[in-house]
Amino acid sequence: MSRTKPSPVKRSSVSRGDSPARKRESPPPRGGWREAPGGVFRASAEPPEGVFRASPKTEDAETASLLAWFASHRRDLPWRSPHPDPYVVWVSEIMLQQTRIDTAIGYFRRFLDAFPDIPALAAADIQDVLRVWQGLGYYSRARNLHRAAQLVQRDFGGRLPDTAADLRKLPGIGDYTAAAIASICHGECVATVDGNVLRVVARRTRSTVPASAPAARPSALKWLAPRIAAATSPGDFNQAMMELGETVCTPVAPDCGHCPWKSSCVAAASGTPERWPVKAPAKTVPTRKSTAVVLRRPDGAVLLVRRTGERFLGEMWELPTKELPGLADLKTGRSLGVVRHAYSHFRLILSVFRLSVPADFPALPDSAWVLPEDFPSYPISKAPKMALELALHQP
Ligand code: SF4
Repeated sequence: MSRTKPSPVKRSSVSRGDSPARKRESPPPRGGWREAPGGVFRASAEPPEGVFRASPKTEDAETASLLAWFASHRRDLPWRSPHPDPYVVWVSEIMLQQTRIDTAIGYFRRFLDAFPDIPALAAADIQDVLRVWQGLGYYSRARNLHRAAQLVQRDFGGRLPDTAADLRKLPGIGDYTAAAIASICHGECVATVDGNVLRVVARRTRSTVPASAPAARPSALKWLAPRIAAATSPGDFNQAMMELGETVCTPVAPDCGHCPWKSSCVAAASGTPERWPVKAPAKTVPTRKSTAVVLRRPDGAVLLVRRTGERFLGEMWELPTKELPGLADLKTGRSLGVVRHAYSHFRLILSVFRLSVPADFPALPDSAWVLPEDFPSYPISKAPKMALELALHQP
């Protein structure tokens, strides 16, 4: 059955809410976000309902120096605020997995513009969500965000759970994201461990465990536990660790001279801190070969098929491949070339052919005949997009 074109993304306004506890003439939004001049999302004047801060503690010298460094070096990122909104932090943390900050910022703004809060995301069509996400890769992140938003809307009235343990139960929220949201938004004393944090800890401890080994995370958590427990703000501590890894304790040429821990770091004392984390033997990535066919009708429309369910790249659109039922015996037509693309867990070599078909050529299940000018309306991942460009740029 052929499908209709996905509907355009609807833009809705940012949700605002009044505080039930305080009455003012012009009450500030609670937990709502708006885009300030310059495109920066700013928090409301009041923290979202239920937000609390960790009680004051006595920081040890190491933790205090890290937090003092963060206070003066923290970057002004659009999702940061004195009163962070859990939805905004959630979206940013999911986007920042596998994506550099500079790249994520544009996508983050477009996503928040299209889906400003959990009700808006829960009500959206998955095709619209994928189209806004298009180009960012790792599309299961977008599918899980959408599914989790629907669960939160249905089971929790549109409000994310407060604790890391409860957040962890939602699709797509792992230990890292749960800890980030719970610590940054609710002051929960739970450490985040990403690649940046692993690197900093590995250098601080001159760890012999490779960062990719299963033992690396528990080992880092053990080192972090007393330090985050000593922090007046666990959320700032976690952000400081990540920021230190991203901007100072970088994989190559760490800038130890500007590190708050330069006098106590054993890797820096060695003179060659980049030796840590130690490397695990490189894994070999398999290569898959496939054949995609650009079936073109006389009116110029091309057949696209939708990948189904929870598969890799599920719900994304692509060219039909020879592996599909009904196409194995099809003549492949004219060769257009080869597309090579590296996914996270395999390399793809895609041979691309073009075949002119009659106007009554039957559609495949879950497919659509699409004119080239309508391609932008369909979420299409990198490799099929490159194959379509090959087809469109050859006579
Ligand atoms: S002193 Fe150097 S190696 Fe040690 S944590 Fe700081 S930047 Fe990393």
